Amino acid sequence: MLQLQDQDSRIFVGQEVLASLDVWVENLKVSSLFILLDTNTQLNCLPLLLKQAPLLSQKAKLICIPAGEENKNLENLAFIWKVLSESLADRHSLLINLGGGVIGDMGGFAAATYQRGIPFVLIPTTLLAMADASVGGKTGIDFRGLKNQIGLFMRAKAVFICPLFLQTLSKAQFQSGAMEIFKMALLVKDTSWKEILYRGFEPTQFKMEDLILAITAKLQIVASDFKESKQRKILNLGHTFGHAFESLSLAQNRPISHGYAVALGLVCELYFSTLRLGFSVLIQKEIETELLKIFPYFSISENDICILKASLLQDKKNNNQKVYPVLLTAIGVAELTQEISQVEIEKVFYYYQKLEVRTLNAHA
Ligand code: NAD
Repeated sequence: MLQLQDQDSRIFVGQEVLASLDVWVENLKVSSLFILLDTNTQLNCLPLLLKQAPLLSQKAKLICIPAGEENKNLENLAFIWKVLSESLADRHSLLINLGGGVIGDMGGFAAATYQRGIPFVLIPTTLLAMADASVGGKTGIDFRGLKNQIGLFMRAKAVFICPLFLQTLSKAQFQSGAMEIFKMALLVKDTSWKEILYRGFEPTQFKMEDLILAITAKLQIVASDFKESKQRKILNLGHTFGHAFESLSLAQNRPISHGYAVALGLVCELYFSTLRLGFSVLIQKEIETELLKIFPYFSISENDICILKASLLQDKKNNNQKVYPVLLTAIGVAELTQEISQVEIEKVFYYYQKLEVRTLNAHA
């Protein structure tokens, strides 16, 4: 079992971590225990957790909410507070969040705000939550249709990352998480990005060292800038253009996963990195070709380019309505200060649109 430290928060990683949970919880001497989960993790993940940590099945009260991003909202947050309050939870109670990023973010926020803060534990069950969402202390909910509008920074007391949960995850969800691992590999001066890419984000090719690389890279970045005033923003690589694709896909009822959208965003942002910062065209083309094998080309029309551009200009990451995508000068060297003009945004989307012909030819 690997143990990492994030300030006063412990991160345990490995197949056997759940077996140590009972003893860890006993040592905390909590007054009451709660497990927050969603309808999918109740079915797929709770049995494994209770088998490995039987004390929880005797002592913990379950709080179950419906699965999905649309449920990361005020209504479910209030439901969690209500159950805690009705069950007389106090400052010595512990909330265990068993699920993906939705459960982790919302449960973390519920715990951080209930009675001005009670301890919480994260047990991430998606690859995205293991590699990304469970590390770095961001908690929150969506509000008025806007993602993560309400929230705060608060680290979990501990994070237990057990890859056994990945066995029931869908391939699309796995690939979404693998994309975040790949993004993290591009942000560090390391050659593993190639190996990760050529493994094709296949669940059968999962490697524990990829996950550990992502966690340690994120910990290092977060340590220098917990509240995201500067350096932590590099984690948004692929996300500026990616969020525009994600919103378009939802608006047009042809949804793609978060990681899929980030992959398309990365294709765009690496192309712009070659134009603006002289990022290697060879590497950019290599990444683009492989990513579009994993995540099939998502077609966009002339009109979609206008919608994508408008969405980019409204992105909450913008500064004074100016768009600053994260760019790369080279692998492991990110740049945060390059503004992209409206004309350049269009140019990038037209570049992306032309890739359709190339990918069609490649598959012919
Ligand atoms: P999710 O929590 O909605 O999980 C995806 C789906 O997989 C859900 O339907 C869930 O019920 C199901 N599921 C979870 N574990 C499973 C398992 N082991 N087997 C079968 N099904 C399982 O979404 P996600 O992709 O894990 O996370 C996305 C969320 O994370 C977003 O809300 C995003 O804002 C947030 N996020 C937070 C941070 C952070 O730093 N806090 C970072 C990245 C993303």
